[in-house]
Amino acid sequence: MSLQHWRRRLEHGNCQITEPVSCPQGKLKKMKIKAVRTSLYDIPPEVERVDAIQTFVSMEFPFVEIEDADGVVGTGFSYTIGTGGEAIKQIMDAYLTPILLEEDASNIDRIWNRMWMDTHWIGRGGIVTLGMAAVDIALWDLMAKRAELPLYQLLGGARAAVPVYNTDGGWLHLSEDELVRQSMEFVEQGFKGIKIKVGRDSLHEDVARIFAVREAIGQEPYLMVDANMKWNAREAIQLACRVEEAGLFWFEEPIEADDVDSHVALREKTTIPIAIGETIYNKYVFKEYIAQGTADILQPDAVRVGGISEWMKVAHTAECFGLSVSPHFLMDLHVHLSAAVPHSLFVEYIPSLDPVLEDTLTLKDGHFSPPDRPGHGILFDKQKLARYQIF
Ligand code: MG
Repeated sequence: MSLQHWRRRLEHGNCQITEPVSCPQGKLKKMKIKAVRTSLYDIPPEVERVDAIQTFVSMEFPFVEIEDADGVVGTGFSYTIGTGGEAIKQIMDAYLTPILLEEDASNIDRIWNRMWMDTHWIGRGGIVTLGMAAVDIALWDLMAKRAELPLYQLLGGARAAVPVYNTDGGWLHLSEDELVRQSMEFVEQGFKGIKIKVGRDSLHEDVARIFAVREAIGQEPYLMVDANMKWNAREAIQLACRVEEAGLFWFEEPIEADDVDSHVALREKTTIPIAIGETIYNKYVFKEYIAQGTADILQPDAVRVGGISEWMKVAHTAECFGLSVSPHFLMDLHVHLSAAVPHSLFVEYIPSLDPVLEDTLTLKDGHFSPPDRPGHGILFDKQKLARYQIF
């Protein structure tokens, strides 16, 4: 099927809008896109981050500013854990920017679908989707600024604050003593829960670490574990069976994320809720997990699913089937998305953007509230950002 055919389906199909939405004369302004500016930064983590499959020593940060004809600017971004950032910027410059310069910024879904179809041969996940995400986030920021609303209210405004759990002390390289000490500190600081990495060389070690942390923090705080897809179904079942009594709130990415059948096998053998989503790139795979009854908690990452538009579709679908969502990473953006819907569980505390922000989120009674500013309200300090600029 040719690209032209897909375009015709997109522009003239039964379920798609056939023309860019026009505004009633004299009431609303058009939001023609005037300029697109991209850049790339590399922001090193402030603590060493090691999990079962990788060490996270660099956070590339592709960045885009989209300016409309009135001079209103939306900012969007993406991230990697050290590879692919330059390719994401090139994708935005070569393939996404020309689409944007033909469009009205208010037609976000139309733009998203054009980006999806125009890049379908090389995209549908990975670096293309990460570039689309930066654009989509910028468009939503721009829309919310024009509406003079915080992003979470533009998207639904289900609540003003979201519980927070801390992952930034649960890394796999820490000794059991360090892990226990940091876990206790985070509970004392008021975090509602903590998550620790599993996947050490010995399953016995993982089991011992989980029970040591549970004993140290008591039964009340939420405790989650994350295997970062290290295991097969048999290994994941072994761990789950040995820690059933630890009161885990979820078991995250136990198995390769595309292997739905193995998750089905695991779920039949454990009562621990299964959380999956940070390595899933689109709503169709999430649909498959929901249809198979395989996951309890979905963890879409707005950057990896191509932006806020796709994140909201996953979240609303989850709600229809009685599942919770708890977004992965990028707390400064996800606090808005979590607050926009009623069935989100937590924001994940990893303060990856703090080194480049003017204003950081404040923990209050174990919760974060989205900034009460138009747009996503993330205030980047341009001088601090400049220190990390690559392109
Ligand atoms: Mg994870």
